[in-house]
Amino acid sequence: MASLFGHIAVSTAIGYAFFPKHVRPLTLIVAGFCAFAPDLDVLSFRFGIPYSSEWGHRGWTHSLVFALIAGGLIGLMFSAISGKTTWSRQTTWRHITAWFVLSMASHPLLDMLTNGGRGCALWWPFSIERIFFPWRPIQVSPMSVSDFISPWGLEVLASEVLWIGFPCMGLVLLARMIQKG
Ligand SMILES: [Zn+2]
Repeated sequence: MASLFGHIAVSTAIGYAFFPKHVRPLTLIVAGFCAFAPDLDVLSFRFGIPYSSEWGHRGWTHSLVFALIAGGLIGLMFSAISGKTTWSRQTTWRHITAWFVLSMASHPLLDMLTNGGRGCALWWPFSIERIFFPWRPIQVSPMSVSDFISPWGLEVLASEVLWIGFPCMGLVLLARMIQKG
């Protein structure tokens, strides 16, 4: 996994870059949850499901199909609750749902850039193969908070500032320039 901070940085950047009109504290929090949610699959270890299983860590929850369905449902529910599903505001719910789906889809893509663990079942349920990108510059994050408060955690944060933080800032600045230009 990349760290919580890395995943939230990406969902935040997607919001500011592509959906700036919808950026509010609440949408940022829900998008951040979507970006991190696939890692709730670590609970599978408690149920004795092995890492290598398609139902284990970095399995089915780390797929694009899962992001589309789960992110889509969260987007629709969020829009319904906040009263944005009326016909006249169709683009709003579409944009918010797209933001949440993209945030969730960013999760496995980020994990596939990390240098540890198993790959992600990105194409589940069509393929259960665990894959990585050929280039993996991001230091993998420990799974427990206690391991994170250590030199390993500092190394993770430094690598994420470089490989996630700066590219995210670049994306937002570029999008702003294009929108203004
Ligand atoms: Zn993950």
